[in-house]
Amino acid sequence: MVEKSKRLHEIAVKRIPGGVNSPVRAFGSVDSHPIYAKSGKGSSLTDVDGNQYIDYICSWGPLILGHSSDIASKGIDKVIAQGTTFGLPTQVEVDIAGCILDAFPMMDQVRMVNSGTEATMSALRLARGYTKRNKIMKFEGCYHGHSDGLLVKSGSGTLTGGVPTSLGIPEAIIEETLIAEFNQLESVGRLFKEYPKEIAAIIVEPIPGNMGLIESKPGFLMGLRKLCDQYGAVLIFDEVISGFRIAYGGATSYYGVEPDVICLGKIIGGGMPVGAYAGKQELMDCVAPVGGVYQAGTLSGNPLAMTMGLNVLSYLKEHPEAYAQLEETARALEDGFTENCKELNIDNVTINRVGGMLCQFFAKGPIDSYQGVMTSDTKAYAVYFKEMLAQGIMLPPAQYECMFLSTAHTQDDIEKTIKAHKNAMRKVKQN
Ligand SMILES: *Cc1c(COP(=O)(O)O)cnc(C)c1O
Repeated sequence: MVEKSKRLHEIAVKRIPGGVNSPVRAFGSVDSHPIYAKSGKGSSLTDVDGNQYIDYICSWGPLILGHSSDIASKGIDKVIAQGTTFGLPTQVEVDIAGCILDAFPMMDQVRMVNSGTEATMSALRLARGYTKRNKIMKFEGCYHGHSDGLLVKSGSGTLTGGVPTSLGIPEAIIEETLIAEFNQLESVGRLFKEYPKEIAAIIVEPIPGNMGLIESKPGFLMGLRKLCDQYGAVLIFDEVISGFRIAYGGATSYYGVEPDVICLGKIIGGGMPVGAYAGKQELMDCVAPVGGVYQAGTLSGNPLAMTMGLNVLSYLKEHPEAYAQLEETARALEDGFTENCKELNIDNVTINRVGGMLCQFFAKGPIDSYQGVMTSDTKAYAVYFKEMLAQGIMLPPAQYECMFLSTAHTQDDIEKTIKAHKNAMRKVKQN
């Protein structure tokens, strides 16, 4: 029974484009309608009709400690009572900056913004201002938010929506965005050879999580580092998903490759709208008011968001075992799914996983490229999604997104999910 969700959506589509404030929430690619959330606690989500789900969306990554975590919200009543924004600096901004720089020790300074989109947009402007060059390089299927130059051959909702490059982006901007293939260093080298003095930056998701999930091949990220050094371009790691998720120090520490700038978001807000970009001193000296690259924000660094973010980051620092736990629960899920497929004689499914994020593709593996991702049977995913939903498992409503686990997911959740998966996969096979 999802009557209330259906009724709300009928009204919503009249008032809001597609009824949603972010496209993937429309459930369009699984041939369904949105489920309206009412409340969440831990790993569990309750919708407006009272149905309960084990949630693997987790707000698309931010909720690493699960829904309505007491750890995340510690002290926010006091913040609300004292004032949620001043337009003046506050101590908690200094504290969270210290926390982020501690996690990414190769970075010297950090600037807080209000979303991942703002972080990547600002990082690109910084790279352009610093290098005095205009072109940027990105990878097909990587998503970096919705600013103009980054919505070219993008991932996430643009993949499921089938709009690889958005309307409304001037030709002149598209021309400044060069597209390379993830895990294909040759494609990067070719572009550098063609434009040796014009490329300001490479921006990359070190763990692409917006075309499902794929992992970089050994040497790929290091190869980007070397090419950027050779051609004087800035290397930007978009760690909006991977930062504080894969490890405390994100993919940067996980792979041991040092970018020049990192972009953060999602987890660092503890469930509030937050982004950040951090870089080496020489770069960050270019940012206003010190340097000539302008970037500002009325609500940037507001105490409410900073307090929730700092609560979560401090907890993760003090509890490194959280990452071991995420690894363990996610591996149990992966193993269970793999075992189910084996028992059902299904051999055209590939499960990619890095730490507490994973994705099941409906295609033969290995899947380590955008082209590979595109071979997945999205109709099969839609059947799978609906069968899981009916059993109380909330998966991402799109093949090209990944599942996020939280520290609140229990062994019992995992067992229930594996059981539901077997039933769902049996249905997929019959379909
Ligand atoms: C979610 C995401 C963004 C955009 O962040 P918003 O807060 O949605 O603007 C940027 N980059 C990556 C890798 C993301 O996953």
